[in-house]
Amino acid sequence: MTSVTNLGFPRIGARRELKHALESYWRDETDAAQLQATAAALRARHWQLQHEAGVDVPPSNDFSLYDHVLDTAVLFDAIPERYRALAEHNPLAAYFAMARGRQRDGVDLHALEMTKWFDTNYHYLVPELQRDQAFTLRGDKPLAEYREAKALGIDTRPVLLGPVSFLLLSKTTDGSNPLDLLNNLLPAYAQLLGELKQLGASWVQLDEPVLVQDLDDNAHAAFVRAYAWLSDVPRPDILLATYFGALDDNLGLATSLSVEGLHVDLVRAPEQLDAVVRALPAARVLSLGLVNGRNIWRNALDNALILARYAAGHRGTDRLWLAPSCSLLHCPVDLTLEKKLDPELRSWLAFSRQKLQELRTLADALDGKAEAEPALAAAREAIESRRRSPRVHNNTVKARLAALAAGDAVRTTPHVQRQVLQAHALRLPAFPTTTIGSFPQTQQVREARARHKSGKLTAADYDAFLAEQTEHCVRVQEQIGLDVLVHGEFERNDMVEYFGEQLDGFAFTGNGWVQSYGSRCVKPPLIYGDVSRPAPMTVRWSQYAQSLTDKPMKGMLTGPVTVLQWSFVRDDQSRADTCRQIALALRDEVNDLEAAGIRAIQIDEPALREGLPLRRAQWQEYLDWAVQAFGISASGVGDATQIHTHMCYAQFNDIIEAVAALDADVISIETSRSRMELLDAFARFDYPNQVGPGVYDIHSPRVPDTAEMVELLRKASDVLPAQKLWVNPDCGLKTRGWDETRAALEAMVDAARTLRSERAVA
Ligand code: GLN
Ligand code: ZN
Repeated sequence: MTSVTNLGFPRIGARRELKHALESYWRDETDAAQLQATAAALRARHWQLQHEAGVDVPPSNDFSLYDHVLDTAVLFDAIPERYRALAEHNPLAAYFAMARGRQRDGVDLHALEMTKWFDTNYHYLVPELQRDQAFTLRGDKPLAEYREAKALGIDTRPVLLGPVSFLLLSKTTDGSNPLDLLNNLLPAYAQLLGELKQLGASWVQLDEPVLVQDLDDNAHAAFVRAYAWLSDVPRPDILLATYFGALDDNLGLATSLSVEGLHVDLVRAPEQLDAVVRALPAARVLSLGLVNGRNIWRNALDNALILARYAAGHRGTDRLWLAPSCSLLHCPVDLTLEKKLDPELRSWLAFSRQKLQELRTLADALDGKAEAEPALAAAREAIESRRRSPRVHNNTVKARLAALAAGDAVRTTPHVQRQVLQAHALRLPAFPTTTIGSFPQTQQVREARARHKSGKLTAADYDAFLAEQTEHCVRVQEQIGLDVLVHGEFERNDMVEYFGEQLDGFAFTGNGWVQSYGSRCVKPPLIYGDVSRPAPMTVRWSQYAQSLTDKPMKGMLTGPVTVLQWSFVRDDQSRADTCRQIALALRDEVNDLEAAGIRAIQIDEPALREGLPLRRAQWQEYLDWAVQAFGISASGVGDATQIHTHMCYAQFNDIIEAVAALDADVISIETSRSRMELLDAFARFDYPNQVGPGVYDIHSPRVPDTAEMVELLRKASDVLPAQKLWVNPDCGLKTRGWDETRAALEAMVDAARTLRSERAVA
């Protein structure tokens, strides 16, 4: 008999119940007991739902009030000193202080750093450790949740972040190596495992996703030591879970550790099955990740069954488990809530609940049960209908993609020459000033959008409102004395959704929420078909804004890689091809903006860095098509048209060559928090084009003064030639208020003037 298990279920709730419960608790509208009651109700509902979907062993401790890495740190008492006093008398308050900072009763605690969980859009909190850090089993969350499920009659498999991944995802505040702490950490893990065993848990899942990344000798040795150590202690059986890629050169390591089972991701890396089947000792459980935990498409069950049968043929089904590729944390909860979605499109999709049902079908089919047949047939039909559907395929787009030539992605005139033409056409001074695009999205703007959406504000009235906002924004920028203006982006809700809504090949769900961090969720658009642009998307507002002023108006677009990265993408075509299609649609938009008299156009790519594959060996291939896609969008314009791009905080060291290959005339980046340190990569590389290092942090309401921005600009012009420098904030201003924005930009323009006279460049 084949078992169905699950690696993790979304925590937030189908209707984002956890989000609402958290936020009302944070606003002091509810108390801790109410929050915990909602959390418990969600856990109970999710266990029940998984049970009904046919999961034999659902996970526990996959739930979190905020983040599972933070949970692990707190569980093992890795609580930094600054939160300790609070943790002693109010553990829940300390937990949230670590997650989101806390300013109360005269105490100002800043939060832990947050960063992306592997290549997902989920953000975890980075544990702060130090040399000689002690760990003890402080909490009992995994034990309590195991008991909680048991009381409901459901036997679960507790999920824990494995010790090596935990340390590698942490940072130390004193520069020591987190892996040096392994010996301190293992007894705490051992104690927990022992207690889980006593409670009756027969299995635990230890997540070690770092096994799909490049590991150095140190990390390799840490795995050997950790699992040798844990092999001797009284504990449940261990399922070692890997996901988000292939084990590759770590396969030998993973199968040599003395654990009782191994989970592998066969969606990202189906090709590893054969090697895994052969390398894994026969007595071990093999858990096959067959259904995509990272996307929303219905599974091609026949194909998955081929893999499952292959594994079963080699190893039998007694120790074969079927599971999603990774935790379903990255997938929305339940498709049945999508009442408004077009029925054909809906028939192609599966959310978490449906994915578990697919696994049940696969297990039944593998066990030769006839009742699996109708579901297999239905899946076959859905896949076939999607494959043939005219709404998926657009021959014009395909032909255009096929006809792309190498020259279509590059501008032939070198930047140095373009720069002269552009400075003249745009009448730019030295140290030109500009902003990143958005201006304050006030309550009033958001209300008007909501009222328009719900039909309470007519299209004409909404338009008039937007025109007024835009004009106000232009006037303010003129008064401040900025050199390159923007229209303010008042018409936009979100930088991807706004474009997706106007492009063919995109669809939107009503409830397809995925946790991004804490209570924050995103609802990624889904790209289901060939992408094309039926009509210009931004020309009207840019043109209108340009008509109001003699200063150059910068057009504002979201780049192809970012649109791709922040959407659910097709699984029937390569990411690269989807990206190129988006790029072609954007190319038309860029060209239309130019034809409409817009002489500077910014193509934002904040997600370029996060798209990097987990393995270094695959970086170049990704960077090649990502750079090409940007080039496709940007290279249709004349030499005098200036292309800008923008990226938020990113480690540029690794990718500076690719950033240069984008050949944007100007790149604006976030640098103020690092006090211009990020610029070093540009200086060392001798970056050829122009750079706008952000001179003030827009994430804070604090208004910077002229002197500190002058200071930063001096630092910048010490490492880069003055002719290459622009002056701008770190990012868009949409989260700020008007008063602070105006004051900060006035000071910024002053700072630019100071630099002009100081450095005396023409
Ligand atoms: N143009 C966008 C804005 O200003 C860029 C946002 C971003 O970088 N994430 O809001
Ligand atoms: Zn930004």
